[in-house]
Amino acid sequence: MDDTIAAISTPYGEGGIGIIRMSGSLAGPILSELFVPVAQIEANNSGPTANDSGADAKIENRKLRYGKIIDHHNGQILDEVLVAFMKGPYTYTREDVAEIYCHGSVVALRNILKLALHHGARLAEAGEFTKRAFLNGRLDLSQAEAVIDMIQAKTEKGFEVAVGQLEGKLSQKIQELRASLLNVLVDMTVNIDYPDQDIEEILYDNLIKSISQIGETIRKLMDSADAGRILKEGLRVAIIGKPNVGKSSLMNALLGETRAIVTDIPGTTRDTISETISIKGIPICITDTAGIHETDNEIEQIGIARSKISFNQADLVLFMLDVSQDLSQEDQFIIEHMGNRPIILLANKIDLGAKATMEELQRFLPKAKIIETSMVAEIGLEQIEDEIQNLVYQGKVSQQESLLVTNARVESLLRQANDELLQGIGMAQINEPLEFIEVNVRRCYELLGEIIGETVAEDIINEVFSRFCLGK
Ligand code: GDP
Repeated sequence: MDDTIAAISTPYGEGGIGIIRMSGSLAGPILSELFVPVAQIEANNSGPTANDSGADAKIENRKLRYGKIIDHHNGQILDEVLVAFMKGPYTYTREDVAEIYCHGSVVALRNILKLALHHGARLAEAGEFTKRAFLNGRLDLSQAEAVIDMIQAKTEKGFEVAVGQLEGKLSQKIQELRASLLNVLVDMTVNIDYPDQDIEEILYDNLIKSISQIGETIRKLMDSADAGRILKEGLRVAIIGKPNVGKSSLMNALLGETRAIVTDIPGTTRDTISETISIKGIPICITDTAGIHETDNEIEQIGIARSKISFNQADLVLFMLDVSQDLSQEDQFIIEHMGNRPIILLANKIDLGAKATMEELQRFLPKAKIIETSMVAEIGLEQIEDEIQNLVYQGKVSQQESLLVTNARVESLLRQANDELLQGIGMAQINEPLEFIEVNVRRCYELLGEIIGETVAEDIINEVFSRFCLGK
């Protein structure tokens, strides 16, 4: 923590600008060494030379300066830049921070970084800037995790939830829970130390009531984790149905562009096509399968094998039928292989009239949600999107909610904390000694502390930050 770290904070590749960031007590002095303000260069008139010591360049706090980065060993200009120096503690890391905005060339970025390292900075590890922000108390652990989520967010909704978490919505909830647990713990400790027989019964009743309430909130947070995970990783959706029912047309409609090939000849979508799209802010990884049916064609067989894989991995199956035709053996074959996953049955080509009533179809697949669609007449698309949204939130969480648990580490800690409380309640119900129950409650308190990083082992902290990119 005493050394000064440096890294390239923008993505590797060509860009308009690139940023090198430094944090630590040497950030200012190193920047002064490397940077020569343009005014100083002009005053020297003769242009930059090895004598143009950058050391006397005025690096003012929170002022953007324009000039050049010069390697004083050979007088070489590395780039024309803007620089900013921010004195701690009001910075991202709470330490002194310097940023160099150069051209977004890999060469310029690398050379400037090398020079900074040469002047005493150390190359930052992945996530080390944010780790310092955490260790210096600017962010707690769940807020630091929100930073990764924000960087990696692929949809509006995912980003919104991450912003809420960075603002401290999750941390605040956890702190409230811990405060309530602390009250319970204090009550228990008093009674363990000064037992009073008369109030014992009330005590146990109250204890069960308070712990149950806390457990309720924990479970609500846990329930949001399914939706949270999907917002982060995406919902895997497979479109399935026999050839020519309109699967590619659906895929195209959802994508809003012509990607899959649409034809009249059955079996032309020979391979699976996957795309990630955003439906109502939810990332959806959608696969148009080749259809599952029996065939002698070798290429088709490969496609069908792949379809089966994406079908088996899907969180949701969109099973499409051509309702203008009678149900065939192939449809039957697919239905039999459907398994237990959530299904939306799309009764497509409804514009051509339906051979079967919706009640008949429902009898085929009692658990499926049925939507009448027409890809040609553009019927039913909005309803498909609504259904997908309902499935993700499952009525458990409000769709406006921006406090969702999106992190597997947090989810697992909540689960363990809940288990501890359930055990505690079980023991309180049979009037076990308070000392025993206190162990569970205390453990729950600690587990919640791990979420925000208050009671957390160093290896876990390292694990969290190793998932960051360099320069953050
Ligand atoms: P896939 O083989 O299941 O991918 O089916 P396609 O999307 O390639 O569609 C096969 C044919 O059916 C194409 O000619 C489409 O234009 C047509 N088609 C798709 N959906 C509908 C629909 O809802 N109504 C009508 N009338 N034709 C459709």
